[in-house]
Amino acid sequence: MSSRPQPHRARKRFGQNFLRDPGIISRIVRAIAPREEDRLIEIGPGQGALTEPLLEAAGHLEVIELDRDLIPGLRVQFFRYPGFVIHEGDALKMDYAALKGEGPGLRVVGNLPYNVATPLIIRLMESGAAIADMHFMLQQEVVERLAASPGGAQWGRLSVMAQYHCRVESLFTVPPEAFVPRPKVDSAIVRLTPHAELPCVAEDENLLFDVVREAFGQRRKTLRNNLKGRLSSTAWEQLSIDPGRRPQTLTVEEYVRIANFLARESS
Ligand code: SAM
Repeated sequence: MSSRPQPHRARKRFGQNFLRDPGIISRIVRAIAPREEDRLIEIGPGQGALTEPLLEAAGHLEVIELDRDLIPGLRVQFFRYPGFVIHEGDALKMDYAALKGEGPGLRVVGNLPYNVATPLIIRLMESGAAIADMHFMLQQEVVERLAASPGGAQWGRLSVMAQYHCRVESLFTVPPEAFVPRPKVDSAIVRLTPHAELPCVAEDENLLFDVVREAFGQRRKTLRNNLKGRLSSTAWEQLSIDPGRRPQTLTVEEYVRIANFLARESS
């Protein structure tokens, strides 16, 4: 019986759209600029489109892949690289602080399905110091939200969360033709670099994210409405924030100011 891996049919449930465009692949790898001294982690290597050039450039790479049917193909394809390590499993359940150990911050790379990417970014951001940077291919609309500015239609919970922790750069868009099978929407590459020092520090991060979630509860309503019960008119005055503003006009610093005010009030 042959042990050769069978040809793989893309699986919808794992969000499999495999990159095929060599021009786009090398553009992504140039944006990542992998170096030998990096601790590189690729999430969802699939059939190895990014894996190969990353391994070539850095000489080593760890991958996390959920679809066990893809593992034999990856082993065969990359057996000649001694620095190639496969973690079989769900990237959402990985303990990134433990994975990092004593080494340098992780550089995380991935072309991910949207339903995995957003919770994964949040999980990675919360593992704080363990991450040097992240490069992800996501739906363009999600990249626009991550990289949005206050006042714009895209500014929301995800933008505040991401920009509280990281500098966010939208790098370039990738059309559906670059993949097999083709996704229905455009994709884009985003770089997230955790701040070496947070520009503004929430005394209680959970409270900050509760406040942001409540504030964006109804985008058309004012802060006064959405945060009703949390802050009195005197409190808004002390904060120097007009409660008649809409949630999408506030900066990260203003959200942190509100959360820190509430944290001090309750202590
Ligand atoms: N990197 C390859 C490429 O660019 O051609 C594959 C990209 S495909 C969009 C997404 C990959 O992520 C698939 O290989 C899929 O099996 C894997 N994947 C999906 N959910 C995952 C998860 N929770 N943890 C790890 N890998 C996952």
